[in-house]
Amino acid sequence: MQSGRPARVGALIHEEVARLITRGLKDPRIGFVSVMSVRMSSDLRYANIYVSLFGNERERKSSLIGLRNSAGWVRREVGRHLRMRVTPELRFFEDDSLDRVYELESVLETIHEEQDAAPMIHVGLPELVEELRGVDNYLVTSHINPDGDAVGAMLGVALLLKALGKTVTCVLQDPVPTIYRDLPGAKGILDCQAEKPRFDAAVIVDVSSLERIGEVRDWLAPGQRVFVIDHHLSEQPDGTLGFIDPTYAAVGEIVVDLFEAAGVPLSVAAAECAYVAQVTDTGGYRFVNTNQRSHEIAAKIHGTGLETAPICERVFSGMSRAKFDMLCHVLSRAQFLLGGRLAASYVSYQDLADAGGEAEDTNGLINYLRNVDGVAVAALFTQVDETTTKLSLRSVEPFNSARFLARFGGGGHAAAAGLTLEEPMAAAMPRLIEELETAMKKDLP
Ligand code: 5GP
Ligand code: MN
Repeated sequence: MQSGRPARVGALIHEEVARLITRGLKDPRIGFVSVMSVRMSSDLRYANIYVSLFGNERERKSSLIGLRNSAGWVRREVGRHLRMRVTPELRFFEDDSLDRVYELESVLETIHEEQDAAPMIHVGLPELVEELRGVDNYLVTSHINPDGDAVGAMLGVALLLKALGKTVTCVLQDPVPTIYRDLPGAKGILDCQAEKPRFDAAVIVDVSSLERIGEVRDWLAPGQRVFVIDHHLSEQPDGTLGFIDPTYAAVGEIVVDLFEAAGVPLSVAAAECAYVAQVTDTGGYRFVNTNQRSHEIAAKIHGTGLETAPICERVFSGMSRAKFDMLCHVLSRAQFLLGGRLAASYVSYQDLADAGGEAEDTNGLINYLRNVDGVAVAALFTQVDETTTKLSLRSVEPFNSARFLARFGGGGHAAAAGLTLEEPMAAAMPRLIEELETAMKKDLP
C-alpha cells in the first residue's frame, strides 16, 4: 500500500471523486460506479482511480468511457478542494486491473507512467459509430509505408465521417504510393510538413500503435482522444477506444461494415476505397485471410456499380521500370535455405537509387519468393538507410510470422508480417536469418 503524502493525497481524491460520482456526473453513459481505490504516482502528477463497474459488459464499457470523458471536469472540481499547485491528472480504470497493477508494483515499487497509461477500450461497431458521432473535427491517419489497405481504409473512414457531417483532415507520414493516388480523396492527404490542422480526436486506421504512425504522432496532444480501427492482433493497443478484429481480411472490410452500422449507404467512392483495401490485403482474394465475409463484402462493393477491372489492372498489373529492376535484384540474390523451405533475399538503398525508384517500388516483391514451390517462409530484407533495416516475412502455417517478429518489436499477421530495426543490414540480416532457421526447425520439423 502507499504511504506518506501520496497516500494522503490519494485518500482525499478518493473521497472527492466518490462524492462527485454519487452526486451524479452529467454524462448519461455513466451507470452504477463505485470508487474502490486510488493510487498516486510518486511525483503526484497522476492519480489512477480504480472503479467497480456494474451492469452487463456493454453498460460497464459505456460507464468507463463516460468516466474518462468526464475526467477533465472531475479534475477541476477535485482541484478546488485539494490546494495543490498542480492537480493530478485523473485516470479511470476498471477495478479488475488491480491485481495486475499491484503485482507490478511489488516489483517496481512505483507506478511508471508508461505502464499505467489507460488501456484501450474495445467496442463493437455500433458503439464505435456512437462514439464517432460525438466528435466534430477529425484527424485520420494510418501507418508508415502505407499499403493499399492503409490508404483505402483511411480514405473510406474519411468519407464516412464526412457523410456524418464531420470535418476531416487526412495525413500520412510517407507518400501515397503512385498506384493509389487516384483514389477518391487521395490528393488531399497531407504530409507532416503541412500546417497542423485543428481537430478534437484522431482516428488511426490499419494500425494500433502510435509508434507506427511515425511523425504524425507529434501532431497529437497529450491525452488526445484516439480511436483505433484495425485488424492486427495487439496485446496492448494504444488509443482511447477502438474496434480491432483480426478475422477481417482488411480494414477496408471493416469500413464497409461501419457504413452499414452507421446507416449510411455505401457510395461508389467509398466502395472504391474499400475495394482497393480489400483486394490488396487479400492478394486478390487468394491469401488465407480471405473468407466468406470477404466475398459478401465484395458483393456489396459491386452492388454500388463500381467497376473493379480497371482498379485491378492499376493495382496488380502495372509495374514501374524501377520496380522491375528491383525485382531482378530480389530474384538474382535469392538464397534457398533449410532444404528450400526458407527463401531469403535483400535490396539495398543503392539499388533503389540506381533504379531511380521510391520505397513503393519494393512493395509486393516478396511474393515472388513466397510463390516458389516448397517455400514455407519468405524473407526480404530492405536496407532503408545506413542504420535502418526492414524485414518482411511471408509464411504458411504452422509458422507464425507475427509471433516470430514480435520478439524483435515487429508485428503484422500470422502469414504476413514486418519489422523495422535500427541496425545496419550487414549485421541484422545474418542474425535474423539464423534466428529464423532456429525457429523454423522448431515449428516446421
Ligand atoms: P509488409 O511486409 O508488406 O511491409 O507488411 C506485412 C504486414 O506486417 C502488414 O500488416 C504490416 O502492417 C505489418 N508490418 C510491416 N512492418 C512492420 C513493422 O515494422 N512493425 C509492425 N508492428 N508491423 C509491421
Ligand atoms: Mn491491413
